[in-house]
Amino acid sequence: MIITLQIPYFELGLESNRKRLAQIAVKILDIVRLPRKLAMTRLKRIAGNSFKKQFKKHKTMDNFNPADNIQDLQYFGEFGGVNPSISDSSTYTFLSAKTMFDTFEGNMEGCYLYSRHSSPSNLYLDKALAAMEGTETANVSASGMGAITPTLLQLCGAGDHIVSSRTIYGGTYAFLKNFAPRLGVKTTFVDITKLDLVEAAIMPHTKVLYCETVSNPLLEVADIAGLSKIAKKHNLKLVVDNTFSPLSVTPIKLGADIVIHSLTKYINGSSDTVGGVTCASQEFINSLKDVNSGASMLLGPTMDSMRSASVMKNMRTLHLRIKQHSYNAAYLAERFEKDGLKTVYPGLASHPSHKIYASMINPEYGFGGMMTLDVGSLTKANALMELMQAKNLGYLAVSLGFYKTLFSAPGTSTSSEIPLEEQAEMGLTDGLIRFSIGLDNDIERTYHMMKGCMEELSIL
Ligand code: PLP
Repeated sequence: MIITLQIPYFELGLESNRKRLAQIAVKILDIVRLPRKLAMTRLKRIAGNSFKKQFKKHKTMDNFNPADNIQDLQYFGEFGGVNPSISDSSTYTFLSAKTMFDTFEGNMEGCYLYSRHSSPSNLYLDKALAAMEGTETANVSASGMGAITPTLLQLCGAGDHIVSSRTIYGGTYAFLKNFAPRLGVKTTFVDITKLDLVEAAIMPHTKVLYCETVSNPLLEVADIAGLSKIAKKHNLKLVVDNTFSPLSVTPIKLGADIVIHSLTKYINGSSDTVGGVTCASQEFINSLKDVNSGASMLLGPTMDSMRSASVMKNMRTLHLRIKQHSYNAAYLAERFEKDGLKTVYPGLASHPSHKIYASMINPEYGFGGMMTLDVGSLTKANALMELMQAKNLGYLAVSLGFYKTLFSAPGTSTSSEIPLEEQAEMGLTDGLIRFSIGLDNDIERTYHMMKGCMEELSIL
């Protein structure tokens, strides 16, 4: 049972109230060993009238719904506002030197030290993302790469080994292939859809299994439950980048240990910032933020408070956006496949992992907004993208999760870090266009306009 005691931030600002909170926390530790009803009665008595109380029964993974978890969060702003105040400080006051010492030692919950470590605004967003992914806690960062690299460096040191999917975001691939070896961390890249190959790549010094739920850009699907079994058998940490499938997939439910997002994409959804997050156990997040040895604390990829406040506001519409992205992408994928174009979308029965993905998703959010079309050659792909942009169908731009459709040819953009021969081996062809389908109100109209562009260029 988890009991949440919610205390308005302005009350926490006073040292006397912090002390009171610490006393309450100690009492709670005693009380939670009591039967629930008795614990509630005692807790209410201790908390008194000066605090707002909110007792919540912890939701189990069986009735887990990520959007409900976000909806159920409640914040009280410093002055009673419906949005919490944005913390505009890099450093924080202490009324006693002892409290400062204890905070450095990591012994003082509720006290802030320095905003590279944590800030009230970042903790609000951490909490929302942890609720969404079903983890104990989370740590936001200034970019997706700012979450991925410290997480991997926290898990691996010189001499350690990672087994990674070969179809991952180009920046992550470049980090594992070119940068991590400088620190003595080597990676074997495998076809993540073949569990026997994954297991065969594990060595005595392997520490991490790394994959993306739906891979960038080929939309391969990782069987997270199957990978988790292998990870547990060999005592490895399964780290999953869930950037392409927020809400649709809950990797923790399927056995992942750590879930990462680039918030830059769907979660923020307005292409106005970069951001990232690591969702994991309290123990792991504490280690990432440790003042002496934490990769996040020491490498410093901290998100700014202003940004975390704006990302949190955008997160509140994520469920509506994901449903619309999924609906639109499924519509276009079905129509273009019928028209005879080589179409990859995990919601199509022709997708090699369609069945496994269907068994993994929280169905109401659909199969996601990402789709690829192969139009035969880079020249045709470039011409089509330029024409679609000219007709206002979307933008020729990298990234994903925007309200308008974004398209790019990954071989020459987001995956250009991957050498040409390796691209060919993994099926990343020249004519492949990656689409992040937008929130278009009338997707049938969009389809006819896109088809018109293809006919004009003799692609269809
Ligand atoms: N993970 C995936 C799947 C991505 O597509 C990206 C960026 O495109 C990243 C991580 C890196 O995120 P950021 O650009 O926010 O650092």
